[in-house]
Parts: sequence; C-alpha cells; structure tokens
Amino acid sequence: MRTIAITNQKGGCGKTTTAVNLAAVFALRGVRTLIVDLDPQAHATIAFGVDPERIVSGIYDTLVNKSTPISDTIISGNLSGLDISPANGLLSRAEPEPTFCVGLEYVLGQRLAQVKNDYDICILDCSPSLSLLTVNALTAADEVIIPVQTHYYALEGLKQLLRTISIVTARTNPQLCILGVVLTLVESRTLLSRDIEQQLRDYFGDIIFKTVIHRNVTLAEAPSAGESVITYNPKSRGALEYMGLAEEVFKYESKSRITKESLVNI
Ligand code: ADP
Ligand code: MG
Repeated sequence: MRTIAITNQKGGCGKTTTAVNLAAVFALRGVRTLIVDLDPQAHATIAFGVDPERIVSGIYDTLVNKSTPISDTIISGNLSGLDISPANGLLSRAEPEPTFCVGLEYVLGQRLAQVKNDYDICILDCSPSLSLLTVNALTAADEVIIPVQTHYYALEGLKQLLRTISIVTARTNPQLCILGVVLTLVESRTLLSRDIEQQLRDYFGDIIFKTVIHRNVTLAEAPSAGESVITYNPKSRGALEYMGLAEEVFKYESKSRITKESLVNI
C-alpha cells in the first residue's frame, strides 16, 4: 500500500479537494483506494456523502483504542473501489487522550499496517495544523503532496513548510518522499498569479507538479452533492486537471524530487 499524506498547515489551500479528487481518480481506474480523514472538520468524509454525525466508529476510535482495528472504522463511500475511514468531531479530542499519546507519532502507521494488503493506495487528508494527528500522518506516509495556493506569500510559506516537514520527520520518518507541490486556486488571468507560479517554478524547479489546479467553481460545488468532481462533472476543467495530476502521481511514484540535504538549505 502506497501511503500519501496531503498536507499544509494553511487552511483553505485545497488539501481536501486534492485528497478527495485524487482518491476518486484512483478508484475509477480500479486502484483499491482508502482515504483517511484526519481533520476534525470532516470535510473529506462529507465530500463522499457520509454524515459525520452518524458515524458509529471513526478514525478517532482506532487511534485511541488499540482493541478497535482500523478495519472496524472503514466504510464504503458512494464510489465503488473507494473506502473511507471517516472523521467526526471526536477527532479533535484525539490529541490529549492518554492512550493515543503512548507511542505518540507511530499510532496511525501501526493501524494502517493492519490493512496494507487490502488497498493499493491510501490518501491521508490532514488538518490545517501541525498537530499530533498531522505528525502521525507524516510519520505513516511514504510520500507527501503539498497543495499551495498561488498568492503573494506562497514562496516564503513553502520554504518554511518544507523545513518544518524535514525537521518533523527527521527522526520519525527519514525516508519520507516529497512527491511534489501542487499549485491550487490558480488564476491564470491575473498577472500576479502567473508571476508567483513562475517564481515558485524558478525556485523549486521539478518539485512543482506540471499540472496546476485552476480556480474552478465546479470543484467547490461537487462536495455539496456528496461527490467528487470526477463523477459530478467529469468534463469540467477541475476534473480534467485532477486527472492530469493523478497521472503525475503515478509517474513519480516514490521518487523524491527533492533531497533531504537540499531541504535543509531551502
Ligand atoms: P483545505 O482542505 O486545505 O482547508 P479545501 O480543499 O477544503 O481546503 O478548499 C477550501 C475551499 O475552497 C472549499 O470550499 C473548496 O471547495 C474550495 N476550493 C478548493 N480548491 C478549489 C478550486 N481549485 N477552485 C474553486 N474552489 C476551490
Ligand atoms: Mg481540509
């Protein structure tokens, strides 16, 4: 099972949109896909038509309770081939729970190991903070994808984020690959957005995915229908761009496109 964390401490930069739509492309291609919702806001859960209020057992339950296997939390969403370990509001309580704090960063990885033969890909949708849950995700993951909104502070923000990731994982997961940075909410009609994209590509080179995700209203509408954009409107620009991104994710499997040494110097 290939485990990919979608992370950025900033909220609203397209983490969940990226997690949900990549997962949908994979599932539609016949790749056995699991999405784990690590954000107490439960947006990925809702995006697949699952009501967080009605979850009997979610990712929280397996994190805090060793006797609950992760398989007990997994449910099928409304897309064949795609399963979800959902979040609910309780997840925000997973932080101080003493049982979760034993072994700290490794709990999620241990739970995911229980289903490693059942799925080809596992996508971890992180919350917008460097919480213990996010540290668990970075520790459990093989690879990380970072969605970045193209705005004025993107370059500095990304440098800082890459440094943080390298510090956090130096001890718990030194093999973690930075698969790439995906530029989201791109507005190619504005000069500023184009300038920032160029600046990021000049500075970071290859680690910026070739595919960019433009601002596209269909991407924002799809979750309200409890669907990914890939099924909601497969011909929309958002769907086509996420299909393009998925191609790159397949192509670059486990090829870190940035070295640990260069991360330290960023
Ligand atoms: P995060 O998970 O990083 O907080 P989301 O993926 O939930 O971010 O996106 C934040 C909001 O922006 C959501 O309402 C989402 O539907 C919307 N959104 C995300 N990406 C796009 C896009 N490319 N075009 C239009 N709206 C988007
Ligand atoms: Mg989110």
